[in-house]
Amino acid sequence: MGHYGAVIACVDGKWLPATIKLAKSLLSKSAIDLHSRPGSVRRFRPSGCAVTEEMISDLVFVSCGLHAVKDILVVKHWDCGDHGGSASFSSPEEELEIYLGDLRRSKEILPGMINATIVKVMAVEPPEPVAVNLQTLLEQGLRVRYAVFCPKDLQSPSPQPEDCYPLMLK
Ligand SMILES: [Zn+2]
Repeated sequence: MGHYGAVIACVDGKWLPATIKLAKSLLSKSAIDLHSRPGSVRRFRPSGCAVTEEMISDLVFVSCGLHAVKDILVVKHWDCGDHGGSASFSSPEEELEIYLGDLRRSKEILPGMINATIVKVMAVEPPEPVAVNLQTLLEQGLRVRYAVFCPKDLQSPSPQPEDCYPLMLK
């Protein structure tokens, strides 16, 4: 099962091919689990938030539990409708900073989600519930990377995936 990676991305299907391609190449995996939410991690908040808990639950249950995933990519994309699109920002620089801010916040929050204890059920009969703590998975080497599809030319930004490149969050 070591050939699986996972990606958290926006639901906007226009970016799906580029997202899967990027995840395969960055994570060096032949198969990718897709966890899509509007705006990717835009609504990612500390423990207690239903959207976040659901996202982490999916990730742990499906990807870590069933597919033994150890590498995850979180990606955002340009002109995201969940943010109101590029038109809702005063400049491309501001748009980029907002997307990067989402990724930074996620990166800060994720390791602290000690309450995200999920009961995972393995794909065996009878199902065997195992309590899994996200913090434990991270300590055991679960690796998360962050990227945003950013226009190659910020002066004349294009909303097309082919005109964008993955800017990695350091
Ligand atoms: Zn989007």
